[in-house]
Amino acid sequence: MPNRNLVIAIDGPAASGKSTTARLVAERLGYTYIDTGAMYRAVTLAVLRNGIDPADDSAVSALARNLQISFLRDPDSGELHTLLNGEDVWQQIRTPEVTRNVSAVSSYSGVRTPVVALQQQMGEQGGVVMDGRDIGTVVFPNADLKIFMVADLGARAARRHVELQHQGAEIGLDNLAIELSERDRHDSTRHHSPLRKADDAIEIDTSGLTIQQQVERVIELVQQRGAEQNAASVPE
Ligand code: C5P
Repeated sequence: MPNRNLVIAIDGPAASGKSTTARLVAERLGYTYIDTGAMYRAVTLAVLRNGIDPADDSAVSALARNLQISFLRDPDSGELHTLLNGEDVWQQIRTPEVTRNVSAVSSYSGVRTPVVALQQQMGEQGGVVMDGRDIGTVVFPNADLKIFMVADLGARAARRHVELQHQGAEIGLDNLAIELSERDRHDSTRHHSPLRKADDAIEIDTSGLTIQQQVERVIELVQQRGAEQNAASVPE
């Protein structure tokens, strides 16, 4: 295992397996898992609650400047819950309405600047696994390990379908596939920090992998990177 606490960045399109993998990898390493999508979802929830039009850059950005986003560790699961102005919004940020509007809200620099600053502060000591869209390119361009997770659209829609069924929601596979590809298109073509694989990121295609296999693959890469860094830090 690495001698010091690493920063591990996991980026990729929606439902590519990032968050489940990131959470389990963090658990195995004793690191903190940071779900950066949850932060943009919290801003989106505030926008909707305040009746602001998600297409209104200046109104959304003005609101974002005055929001307080923080995290609280759930004592039972150990997971970090997202707090919006002190309120636990863990469940409210997963509604279809938030999901439909989050790409528009996250596209503004007035939203991204404060959120990215908070992410950088949370990761500055290392010992974090952070998943998102721009972690390896913008938030931590010097991350110790960068993973870019992809999966074909059919596999991603099927996974999201199962997840939603568990939550009691029934949305057709075709509609889910359309929603995912629309969100990816929006996230990859925006002007600020578009979803993009960093040049030095390692791509993992999770289409045919189980969660366990995804986790093992990332742990192997962490061990490799840690061994390389340990070897490089041995004095001559
Ligand atoms: O990861 P999740 O699907 O919850 O992310 C929700 C949305 O938040 C993404 O579709 C994207 O618009 C935005 N996001 C982002 N940058 C990140 C993480 C998420 O723009 N680092």
